Amino acid sequence: MKASPQPITLLVTGGTLDKDYQATSGELIFSETHLPKLLEEANSTLPIKLNVLMLKDSLEMLDSDRQKILDACLESATDRVVITHGTDTMTDTALFLKNSRQLTDKTVVLTGAMRPFQLNQSDASFNLGTALMAAQLASSGIYIAMNGELFEASQVSKNRQQGIFELHT
Ligand code: GLU
Repeated sequence: MKASPQPITLLVTGGTLDKDYQATSGELIFSETHLPKLLEEANSTLPIKLNVLMLKDSLEMLDSDRQKILDACLESATDRVVITHGTDTMTDTALFLKNSRQLTDKTVVLTGAMRPFQLNQSDASFNLGTALMAAQLASSGIYIAMNGELFEASQVSKNRQQGIFELHT
């Protein structure tokens, strides 16, 4: 018999994944989160508790924002947490959560996208799908799920030239 999936808290913080293209200005801006639509398109029936914490470019995130993310992880009723986040400072937030040493009983997986979900050829659905799966399977810890790989928080960096995440060399 198939076991019911464990509930997952999905914390939304912004990043390119959730940006919209504004035709009048040619800029990428935030309006609302597109996570409900993304999950619907994927036919996901996972028991997800969505919590939109903020919609920020991660370059504008302050430590007070990271504290807010940590508090939301601590207050979440689930042991499994996925966080959508801009890729530029995703590793900083992952380390902030890890170094707090307060999330030792939870599996926390950060993910994002290099291209908005609302534009074609986005990596948003692929990355969120792997993060949700990793959150269900990985033991407690802080991780980053990007490009089909799962990295431990202290062992990953963003390769800006190639636009990928990779193990520290
Ligand atoms: N500055 C953006 C951010 O980190 C980079 C794009 C992205 O999300 O990949 O939010």
